[in-house]
Amino acid sequence: MSRSAHPAGPRHGDVLPEGHYSAPPADLNALDPKVWAQTVTRTEDGAVSVGGIGVQRLAEEFGTPAYFIDETDFRARARAWREAFGDDADVFYAGKAFLSRAVVRWLTEEGLNLDVCSGGELTTALSAGMPAERIAFHGNNKSSAEITQAVEAGVGRIVLDSFQEIVRVAHIAQALGRRQRVQIRVTVGVEAHTHEFIATAHEDQKFGIALADGQAAEAVRRALTLDGLELIGIHSHIGSQIFDMAGFEVAARRVVKLLAEIRDEHGVELPEIDLGGGLGIAYTSEDDPREPHEIAKALGEIVTRECEAAGLRTPRLSVEPGRAIVGPTAFTLYEVGTIKPLEGLRTYVSVDGGMSDNIRTALYDAEYSVALASRTSDAEPMLVRVVGKHCESGDIVVRDAFLPSDLAPGDLIAVPATGAYCRSMASNYNHALRPPVVAVRDGEARVIVRRETEDDLLRLDVG
Ligand SMILES: *Cc1c(COP(=O)(O)O)cnc(C)c1O
Repeated sequence: MSRSAHPAGPRHGDVLPEGHYSAPPADLNALDPKVWAQTVTRTEDGAVSVGGIGVQRLAEEFGTPAYFIDETDFRARARAWREAFGDDADVFYAGKAFLSRAVVRWLTEEGLNLDVCSGGELTTALSAGMPAERIAFHGNNKSSAEITQAVEAGVGRIVLDSFQEIVRVAHIAQALGRRQRVQIRVTVGVEAHTHEFIATAHEDQKFGIALADGQAAEAVRRALTLDGLELIGIHSHIGSQIFDMAGFEVAARRVVKLLAEIRDEHGVELPEIDLGGGLGIAYTSEDDPREPHEIAKALGEIVTRECEAAGLRTPRLSVEPGRAIVGPTAFTLYEVGTIKPLEGLRTYVSVDGGMSDNIRTALYDAEYSVALASRTSDAEPMLVRVVGKHCESGDIVVRDAFLPSDLAPGDLIAVPATGAYCRSMASNYNHALRPPVVAVRDGEARVIVRRETEDDLLRLDVG
C-alpha cells in the first residue's frame, strides 16, 4: 500500500488501498452512531454538537485543532465493561491509549483498574488518586528506577516480561523488604489482526516469554523460588484492533495448559489469568465491533471450559481494554485551510493539525472517517484526502473519504474515534503545539489537558 514504491504521475491516484469504499455514503451529513461518541448529534442549525455544545462555540472557546472527549460516553463505556465482567473479573484500562488525571478520576469512580507502562504514567495515576493496589505495571524494559517506584508505591502487580526482569524485580522488592505480586507475560504464539489471526509456535516480537520450548515454564520455576515475588498469574496480550474472538480462544487454551503444567509440577494453582486487551472499535461504518457483554460472555466461557477440561479451578480473569473504552469517545476538530483539487484524482483538504496530533494513519495505514462539522450541505460528494500542515508528504489524517464539494476554507471538519493513541502519541514535529483535550458533559466543557504554548517549547529549549 502506501509503503510500496510506484511511479509518480497521474496513475498514482488510481492506487487506492484495498477495501477502500469507492462509493460515497448515501447521506454525507449523517453521523453514524457506531463511529461517533454517544452524545454527538447535529443541532437545528446543522452543526455537530457534543454534550449539548455546538462545535462553533467549542472552536471559538478552545481553538483548533482540539480533541473533544465525551465524558458521559467515556463513563458509560467504562461502566459497561465493569458490569459486563462482574465481580469475578477485573477490568484494567490500558492507560497508554490516553491518560490524564481527569481520566484517572473517572476510572477510579467507575470501579476500573489501570495499566501503566512507564514511570510517567504511574506518577500521573498516583497523583490523581488511583489506589496503587489497582494499578498494574507493564513494559518490556522497565528501568530499575521505575521498578523501585512501582514497588515502593505498592502497585497491585508488576507484569514480568523477561528472565532478567524476574531477578531484577525480586531483588528490588527484597531490598525494600517487600513481596511484590507479579504475573508473567507469555507469548502464546497467536498473531492477531483485525479480521484474522495466525496461531504459530513462536512469535517474533519483543514482548513476553515464549510458551514454546518450555521457556515460560522455566520462568515460572524461577519466579516461584524467589522470596521477593508472589506469583499470582499468567498474562497474555495478543494484538490490537481485533474483532475475531478465535485468537483469544487459542491464547486462553494455551495459557490454561500452562496453568495445568504448573499445578502438576509445583502443586500450585495460580489464581489469576489476564487475557490482555486489543478489542477493536469502529473507525468507519465498515467496522462491526462487539459489545462488552458479548466479549465478557465469550471470554468467560472459553476460560471456564478450558479449566474444566484441565481439572483446574477457574482462575480470576482480567482484561485490559484501552482503545475499546476511550477510542470512540473523542473526535478531533480541525479548521479547513487550503483546498487543492487534483483533476481526475481527488481533492486535498489541508487542516490546521496533522501527523502531530494523529500519527496512526502514517504509522499503520489506519482508516478514519470525517464529517463537515460546522454546517450541513446538500452539495455533491467529492473524494478527498485530509492532510495536515507538516513538511512530509505522508502527513495524512484521512486517506480516502467524501466531503461535500462546497467545502471552503474556514469550515470545521471533525474526525471521529480519535480518543485512543492520538493525543497519547502526539508529537511536536515542526514545533507544532500539541492540541488540548477538552472534556464535554451536560452542556459544560472544560480543558483536561491544555494546549501547548510557545512558552512550553522554549522552556524545554535551554539555549
Ligand atoms: C496496548 C495494550 C493493551 C491495550 O490495547 P488496546 O488495543 O488499546 O485495547 C492492553 N494490554 C497490554 C499489555 C498492552 O500492551
